[in-house]
Amino acid sequence: MADKGIKIQEFVDGIASSVAFVQRNDDDVDLTVAACNDSFFQMLGGRNRSLSFPFPLDALLPSYSRRELRAKIHECFSTGLAQELEQAYDLRDGTHWWRLSLKPFRHDGSDGGDAISGILLTGLDITTKVQLHRALEVSTSRFRSVVDAAYDAIVTVDQQQRITLFNRAAEHLFGYEQAQMLGQPLEALIPEQHREHHGDYVHQFARSPVKSREMNERNRIYGQHQDGTRIPVEIAISKINVDGGVEFTAVVRDITDRVHLMDVLQKQAASDALTGLPNRRDFALRAAELMKSTKPFSVLMLDVDHFKRVNDSHGHDIGDEVLRLLARVGAATVRHRDIFARLGGEEFVVALPDTDAAQALNMGERLRAVFEEQDFDHDWKSGQPVPFTVSIGVATRVDGETDLEALLKRADQALYRAKGAGRNRVEAG
Ligand code: GH3
Ligand code: MG
Ligand code: MG
Repeated sequence: MADKGIKIQEFVDGIASSVAFVQRNDDDVDLTVAACNDSFFQMLGGRNRSLSFPFPLDALLPSYSRRELRAKIHECFSTGLAQELEQAYDLRDGTHWWRLSLKPFRHDGSDGGDAISGILLTGLDITTKVQLHRALEVSTSRFRSVVDAAYDAIVTVDQQQRITLFNRAAEHLFGYEQAQMLGQPLEALIPEQHREHHGDYVHQFARSPVKSREMNERNRIYGQHQDGTRIPVEIAISKINVDGGVEFTAVVRDITDRVHLMDVLQKQAASDALTGLPNRRDFALRAAELMKSTKPFSVLMLDVDHFKRVNDSHGHDIGDEVLRLLARVGAATVRHRDIFARLGGEEFVVALPDTDAAQALNMGERLRAVFEEQDFDHDWKSGQPVPFTVSIGVATRVDGETDLEALLKRADQALYRAKGAGRNRVEAG
């Protein structure tokens, strides 16, 4: 036995990895180390180096590792199959991870079969690998939490435009579950009319030396929700080289609120707060366009008669009510393509495309009459109808006339004449 031990000792000393030969005592319970090399002592922290072989395995093992290793060794004895396990040992310079391989060592048994005389235990230091794995796990979970907590949708596609990453915000924005989208073509997220162009865009970006860029340089861009609606978005894309291929990451921000706000602001800037009609600025822009493109073309200027008296006798609020009423009824009386706008105060203006002087005079007369006769439904706040009339000046573009201001001036002069002639009248300029 001792002789055999020395031979094996020579054998294991010659091996660079940690090696021990473990045997089982006659009672089949206690495990002893028949031989081991120095690096095996080191693997376990270098304790009890002076022990002489054979000695109990427990003398080398830290208490926390005993149960697991003993169980594996016994398993190896009973099954005759090689085993593996990983163990961590807390040494003076920190925790070391080892992969232990257990191999049964056979000799011819007296009963004729193969008997296991011991187990060859080999340890391989995998600390660096474990540490790298841990570091990777940490950075992966950091990456995951950033991606998942991101307010913006993050979508990554591979070179074939198949989705490889789809974060929570993307699920929310596009209405798909991550599991549905992984591996799917990106197309589902792009409105149909933009798909073709998008492919060209990606190829061009893949070839360009630029690593990241904003996608919405000129046009407003849209994503497509699962329910088919288009969502205005802002997209920043970047590319990275992965395994010789290119991956693209898009950070997609839903700008519905901003677009809505812009629409509201734009509308506000173009309309009059009291009546909701187009304001002077908006009228000037749109009427000038109409004047260029339609023939014949006329305008009406409308001013409330003695409006000061309305304010004075009924109060400013009723005055406001009259202006709002006038806006509502006036805009409903003119045709759809006409522009009924408030110039300011109690003065209004109407652009009448495709309308000659006689037709414009007719329209003026219609408006005048509708207010004089109160030919409309209205629930007066005071409970009492407030009578009021309007004076109207009409002007029609003459051949070659392009200046809207000059045309409006002629309508204003006609209005002035209507006032002078007693009010509640329509005059043509
Ligand atoms: P005319 O028949 O000559 O047009 O007489 P008028 O009283 O209507 O004319 P004037 O231009 O002298 O008076 C206009 C009045 O309109 C004066 C102003 O206080 C009133 N006004 C202007 N803007 C508003 C408004 O937004 N709300 C109310 N309630 N009154 C307004
Ligand atoms: Mg007036
Ligand atoms: Mg006035």
